[in-house]
Amino acid sequence: MSPLKLDVLKKSEHKIVFITEGVSVEMINSIRRIILTEIPVMAIDEIIILKNDSPLYDEIISHRLGLIPLKTDLDAYKLPHECECLGYGCPLCQVSLTCEITNTTNSPLEIYSGNLSSNDPKIVPVDPYIPIVTIDKNDKVIIEAYAILGFAKNHAKWQAVSNVAYRHYPLVEYEANKLKDLEEKKLVVKMCPEKLFELNNNDSLKLKEDYWKSCTLCKFCEKMSKGKIKVVPKKGVYIFSIESDGVLPFDVLIQKVFEVFNEKIDEFVIKLEELEIES
Ligand SMILES: [Zn+2]
Repeated sequence: MSPLKLDVLKKSEHKIVFITEGVSVEMINSIRRIILTEIPVMAIDEIIILKNDSPLYDEIISHRLGLIPLKTDLDAYKLPHECECLGYGCPLCQVSLTCEITNTTNSPLEIYSGNLSSNDPKIVPVDPYIPIVTIDKNDKVIIEAYAILGFAKNHAKWQAVSNVAYRHYPLVEYEANKLKDLEEKKLVVKMCPEKLFELNNNDSLKLKEDYWKSCTLCKFCEKMSKGKIKVVPKKGVYIFSIESDGVLPFDVLIQKVFEVFNEKIDEFVIKLEELEIES
């Protein structure tokens, strides 16, 4: 296998796309699954509603609060089951977020995630404008909520990313002199769902330079050209993309993925050594 190569194609606050080369599909899929379910992040898990004059039931408000993405500091907090308090809740493993609002205006008042006040300024909602509930004039809401670290394998509210996926790097190959029929070429241009082909002035077929960014390997062009165009996945090369709602920075996330991966390998080796294999 060729040496590992990584090329970051796009990196913004909420999305990263990179190409990997020299990594097996099993490894890529393990990384995807760890990102999806094994990275702990903060989410509200316990709620005490002391007053709720809003038209929504306590359960609906609780559900909405649980789904608010919270900025996470993995160094500052312990997982409840690893904490000295044994999960009962203490400043080492939980953060309290409170909200006490009375509508003193003459019109309905919207309560947003930004109205939750946290006892740790680092653990706050990622976006302060996520609507929670609207209350009428003179109505009041008093909420006490507790956020803890958890895993998405137990509940999706603890998911560290919004989306994580990989796909094969597409290779589209054809010889221009074999594609002679104009109607066939027009059909290829028309039928490609991503519109990756175009006709030049001399009616020759042209594939867009950055076709691989959107080609889904649907092979429509292959069918329309009766096999003169070939679409194949490039062996050992994958396009990996992660979308985040901002709970963890990408560098922290990637570092944590490999920590978890190594822990799992160590655990596997220990379990394997414990087995008494009969020869
Ligand atoms: Zn604790």
